[in-house]
Amino acid sequence: MTTTATSATSATTTLTAANRCDRCSAAAKVIAVLPSGSELHFCRHHFTEHEAGLVKLGATISEPTAELV
Ligand SMILES: [Zn+2]
Repeated sequence: MTTTATSATSATTTLTAANRCDRCSAAAKVIAVLPSGSELHFCRHHFTEHEAGLVKLGATISEPTAELV
């Protein structure tokens, strides 16, 4: 197996209203980048739900909009 390191063409670590949660259709608030390079978007609710698992996977978490409720 050859792993072609497809480096993210444009490192867009910003979230806009167009970014939606991967689990529901709510606006994404958190970006989680897995060690594999996969980028996941989560709303606040689903991030909280998956946070422990993401951390365990070694994901890099970023919250471009530090919006506290
Ligand atoms: Zn969600």
